[in-house]
Amino acid sequence: MALSPQQTQSLHTAIEQRRAALLDELREDVERVRLDRPDVLVGSVPDAGDEALVTLIAELDRAEANRDVTELRALEAARQRLAEGSYGTCADCGGEIGFERLQVNPSAVRCIRCQTAYEKTHAASGPGSSL
Ligand SMILES: [Zn+2]
Repeated sequence: MALSPQQTQSLHTAIEQRRAALLDELREDVERVRLDRPDVLVGSVPDAGDEALVTLIAELDRAEANRDVTELRALEAARQRLAEGSYGTCADCGGEIGFERLQVNPSAVRCIRCQTAYEKTHAASGPGSSL
């Protein structure tokens, strides 16, 4: 069963809301760094000992921002698929992803079966794969 217009609309709304929240978070991240640590942005840190710490914090902030940016990209791709009419179709097998799965993860690109297969393949060398 393809998604009904109502289901598509509800997922579209979820994507837009999540996207707006992420953009707010990213804006806050930038603002926080700009207000709290103008020295980082200017690039002149007087004390060498503090410099290492400041660099570390900047790196951590970047990692957090990267996660947001990654999710934002996934949502942008989902909006693109909505516009093209390919939303809700599995990228691997071409089948329906399913409304319930999309409700949990509106930016999902695979059906549950293909996603499970994908994770098995791609997590094979990672930790916890001794199963
Ligand atoms: Zn599939």
